[in-house]
Amino acid sequence: MKCPVCGDDCVLEAREIISHLPTIFSRCPDCRYHVVDKNSPPTDPEIKEPCTCGKRFIDDVFVHIYCIMKDEGLLSGREPLTAVGMPLVHPGFFMKVPPFLPGDSLVLLCRSVDKKTAERIIKEVSEVRAVIKTGDFTPGISDTGLEEVPKTYELMAGCDIRANVFVTHSGPLVLYKQQSTMHIEFPRAFNPKIDAVEKNIRMTSPELFIDACCGTGTLGLTAGRMGVPRIIMNDAWYAAAFFAAYNIKVNREFFNVESVTILEDYRQMQAHPVGTVPRKICETAGGQMIEVYQGDFLELYGVLPGKISTLSVIDLFEKKDMAKVLSMMEQWRRRVPGEVFIP
Ligand SMILES: [Zn+2]
Ligand SMILES: [Zn+2]
Repeated sequence: MKCPVCGDDCVLEAREIISHLPTIFSRCPDCRYHVVDKNSPPTDPEIKEPCTCGKRFIDDVFVHIYCIMKDEGLLSGREPLTAVGMPLVHPGFFMKVPPFLPGDSLVLLCRSVDKKTAERIIKEVSEVRAVIKTGDFTPGISDTGLEEVPKTYELMAGCDIRANVFVTHSGPLVLYKQQSTMHIEFPRAFNPKIDAVEKNIRMTSPELFIDACCGTGTLGLTAGRMGVPRIIMNDAWYAAAFFAAYNIKVNREFFNVESVTILEDYRQMQAHPVGTVPRKICETAGGQMIEVYQGDFLELYGVLPGKISTLSVIDLFEKKDMAKVLSMMEQWRRRVPGEVFIP
């Protein structure tokens, strides 16, 4: 599939990603590995080549990156190995052992890195697909206010689209995102939000499921996996709304849909990063009708169909301000019929 970030063919459909999962990060009989103390500087800063199978143990990849950062003057050699940054593997899923990395399988998040070093890492360390410069904030919309334009991390080199695989009772879902524009998630063996959605759908059998603050679509597409006939997803943040739409396409074989039409272009959506009045980003045709909107979820009532049994989930990012959350729930209840819950 064409990648909305780099324009190349770097995106695999859900079934391909899922079929690779059992072995993608496992070692071959010839793979050698050296477990390194991450909290100390590497004692043996020697670059180990990937195995003939093309994979290399994550610690060896980190030592390689450490050597480049030291050579470029970003590290002195006294910092621990963890100073390199935070690794996010692609695809991300619940893993019990550290991975042996094939090519293009690692997105690296660094606190301080320059373009030259980032480009050198991409060129010389084949496992790294992107280098991102982070900051002391959460990228994307992180509270319930829509007044400010959210900040994003900076893609320094490579392509930072990557997928997480989430397990549902109806089967796995593959959720892509552009990592620099969205918060970090780690798939676990048990996901309480997915579980809450499944329980509520089983209890109420709704005709319409609304995922009001959908992010990249995990909960809405869980409902899709369960066969709910009509699904509406919404997010105010352009990157979330776009990838929720894109993820319908990625996972389309799991839904009863004939076609998926994405109505907006990812780059052009950057011109209106935060939506207010909901605008339609995507729709499907077929047995299941799935739509995605970009807008303020409290305005969503204007686009909803009338007289249909409805279940809504409101998964606000910031749940600490309980008074604000309850007031938003109250406003939602006044405008949208049916059941509503916080996962
Ligand atoms: Zn790409
Ligand atoms: Zn090997």
